[in-house]
Formats: sequence, C-alpha cells, structure tokens
Amino acid sequence: MPIIISKDYRFLQLLRTNLKVLYSSRKRKPQDKIHVSDILSGACLRKAFYARTVKDYELTVEDIDNFVRGESSEYVLVGLADIGISQMELLFEDNLIARPDLMTGGPSHRTESQDTVSTKKDNEAEIIVEFKDTKSFERLKPDSKRFKSYLRQLLYYLVISGYDTGILCIRYANNRRMVWIKRDNQGDYYFSPKTNVQDGKGSLAEIESWTVILEKGSPIRDNLKEEIRTRVSLLKSALDTNSEVQLPKVAEEWKCIKCPFKQTCNPSSVIKQDSEIDILDEKGLVVTIESN
Ligand code: SF4
Repeated sequence: MPIIISKDYRFLQLLRTNLKVLYSSRKRKPQDKIHVSDILSGACLRKAFYARTVKDYELTVEDIDNFVRGESSEYVLVGLADIGISQMELLFEDNLIARPDLMTGGPSHRTESQDTVSTKKDNEAEIIVEFKDTKSFERLKPDSKRFKSYLRQLLYYLVISGYDTGILCIRYANNRRMVWIKRDNQGDYYFSPKTNVQDGKGSLAEIESWTVILEKGSPIRDNLKEEIRTRVSLLKSALDTNSEVQLPKVAEEWKCIKCPFKQTCNPSSVIKQDSEIDILDEKGLVVTIESN
C-alpha cells in the first residue's frame, strides 16, 4: 500500500473560516473609539473606515499568515521579556485608545492627560516595548520607511503614556539573505548568496532591539500630539457622518493592490492622497548613537 498524499484545501478553508469568526468578534464598530493602529501614517485612513463600515469582506491567505506570525511572535516575546503588563489600555484625550504590547508600571498608571498615579517601585524604569515581526529581507535601519512606521507607533505610545523610554524589538521572519537585483513589470528579482554574512560583518540577526528615548519635556511631543489629533479628527468625522469623501488614499499606492477594500474604495477615483512628508525625516530629529 503506498502512502497517499494530496493537498488539503479544506483545512485551509477551516483556518480561513475560523479566522473570519475571530476577526468578526474583534471587528471595530463605527461608533467605537479610534485606535492608534487606525491612524498611523503608512496605514490608510480609508482602510480603517471600511474595516468598520463594510459588513463582509474576504480574508486572504496573506491575512492568515500575518495574523499567525504577528500573534504568535508577540505572545512568545512578551512572555520572555516578562517586565510588565501586556496590552494595557491607555486613553488619549478621551478619543483614542492605545494598547502597547508591553509596559512597566502598575494597573493604576493613567495617561499623561490624566492625574498620573503610578504604583511602580522607585527603581522600576518606565518602559514601553513594541514588538514587530517582519518578512523584510533587509535588516531595517532608522532611515528606512518601515522602521520609521514602527518607530512612530512607539513614539505615539510614549506621548500617550507620558513615558520617556521605549524599546522597539524587531523579529525577522526571513533569515535568508537576499540581494536585490532589479525590478520589472513582473516584480522584483533577488540573488541569494551562499553565506548569510552581511556587509562582511556577521550573519543576519534574527531579532534586533532598539532603545528609543523621547524626553518628557521635548517639544517633539507637541508635534506628535498635533499629528495624532489631526488624524483622529479626520477619521472620527468620516465615521460620524458615514462618509469617506474627506479621507485621503494611502500615500504609497502600491498598498492598494492587496487591499480587501479596493473595489469599494476605487483608489484611482480618489484625488486626495495622504502626505508623504514625515516629521521624522527632519534633519537632526532622530539621532542614532552607537550602542555600548
Ligand atoms: S484601496 Fe488603497 S486607498 Fe483604498 S482603502 Fe485600500 S489601501 Fe486605502
């Protein structure tokens, strides 16, 4: 008797169906408070609008992959770090919810705009940790777009919590070095060298962490607060009026290709586009120093 093997699409369908049930149970309603993940630049305000207003949409295999990688990696790393509370809910000006992956401080810690009553021990540092899991072939640097989008999320959490220290922990799901060669209308072409050594220095890091300091008195906090207010107010008024007309499409339009709301949104008919100007690009605003 041979061993019988066949592709099992039913199991994939089961995963997709159950993921859909899980998504639906977590789905935000139009009247729910805005979350930090809704308003990040690089994310799309229209997408955040449709995710709350469109009743049913198809999840892709990529959605399953992103969900499994993100959730499992965060779960394991939060447990390993073991330095605080995971997914603690913080409020910004009663309009925005933030849930950092991990933060030190007791449950009685409140937001910067409230009277802060912290139960932390005297020697316990105020730290917020944000975990990211990426399939990027390259090890991200502070000047790369994706790194900046991760950094911005952590900075928002620092602004909202009033903390001054953050840790950005990036896990790379892709551990094979790929060197980009060219791009044509079929896509990108890469070369995979026999060794994983990068820049002649050492093999590729599987996980990297960065300390981020945003001082409590820094004026950059005001700029970030203003940025948050503008984006929250745009999305909130669209949801209140049930109209996306005033919402811009995403700055990087290639993101529309895999968007589940592409048909509803019809991005080619949308004139307003999100700004690509980023205050984090300002010279001297982000300074990288050598680690000890
Ligand atoms: S199609 Fe593009 S602009 Fe429209 S919601 Fe999706 S990502 Fe945003």
